[in-house]
Amino acid sequence: MQRKRFIAGAVCPQCQAQDTLAVGQEDQEDVVTCVKCGYRQRQSDPPPAAPERQDEHIIGIFHPD
Ligand SMILES: [Zn+2]
Repeated sequence: MQRKRFIAGAVCPQCQAQDTLAVGQEDQEDVVTCVKCGYRQRQSDPPPAAPERQDEHIIGIFHPD
């Protein structure tokens, strides 16, 4: 029985396709697979470059005085 969850917005580090990465379970370990190119990555592997947005800077601190 295999159940996979797709990761919304995730980009495959190998084929650069978006929304093709799914998380499944193998040997009681989460494994990320790309359904397009077959890329695989286990959770115990070092993660790829985090797709974190860098545009959420703090512009300033608001003092309600
Ligand atoms: Zn891929």
